[in-house]
Amino acid sequence: MSSICSAEIGVIGGSGFYDPAVFESITEVKIHTPYGPPSDIITIGEIKGVKVAFLPRHGKRHSIPPHLINYRANIWAMRDLGVKRILAPSAVGSLRVDIRPGDIVIPDQFIDFTKGRAYSFYDGAVVGHFSLADPFCPELNKICVDTGRGLGLTCHHPATYICIEGPRFSTRAESRLFRSWGADIIGMTLVPEVSLARESGICYTTLATVTDYDVWAERPVTAEEVVTTLKANVEKVRRLLVEVIPKISKERGCQCSRSSEGALV
Ligand SMILES: [Zn+2]
Repeated sequence: MSSICSAEIGVIGGSGFYDPAVFESITEVKIHTPYGPPSDIITIGEIKGVKVAFLPRHGKRHSIPPHLINYRANIWAMRDLGVKRILAPSAVGSLRVDIRPGDIVIPDQFIDFTKGRAYSFYDGAVVGHFSLADPFCPELNKICVDTGRGLGLTCHHPATYICIEGPRFSTRAESRLFRSWGADIIGMTLVPEVSLARESGICYTTLATVTDYDVWAERPVTAEEVVTTLKANVEKVRRLLVEVIPKISKERGCQCSRSSEGALV
């Protein structure tokens, strides 16, 4: 593959994050995968000299709901481009009073409450049981937390993300249950994106931005408030990515690339 169509870093953008305007030298590539098409055309550009592949998770027009995203095609396409590390902005709700709308959360754990997705590249012939004890790349997490706090952004870490199936939101009883389990934020897209990255030996972290309190708080929010917060959050993530990406070293000191060792049966 030519170097123009490759990148070390992948960004999978979430709700509100469709526009790779921070990139220089933009090229667009359409990737074909054994699992069908990814969510959209992938944009390859540079941030301060570092090659980055950008994919909008829900498509550029936000036409793909969380439960219908082709996660396997998206991660396969990133791997095909040579991506070694993925930064994944996503919009979430808060399950804790002190995690406020507008804050950034960089989780170190997740709980999977999805119901029926294509979870693995290992669906037959070869069986794989990968360790997800520590599902996020510790190196990426540290760079993101340190850089975010250095920029004066409120970055919560560690934290637990509960991923629900969607597209509906939680009932109040579910929301209270998730709080009692120790979950801090709630979203619909982390799983299986994070575990497919692990199966691929790709480092992964999510930059979760809080749009509102989940229904446990019983504070009605208007769609206008959510949209205003979402827009402000996108700007924060842009600032963070521009600072974080040049700090990521090509040499990986983490274990993410060795995920298949001992995993295959
Ligand atoms: Zn890693």
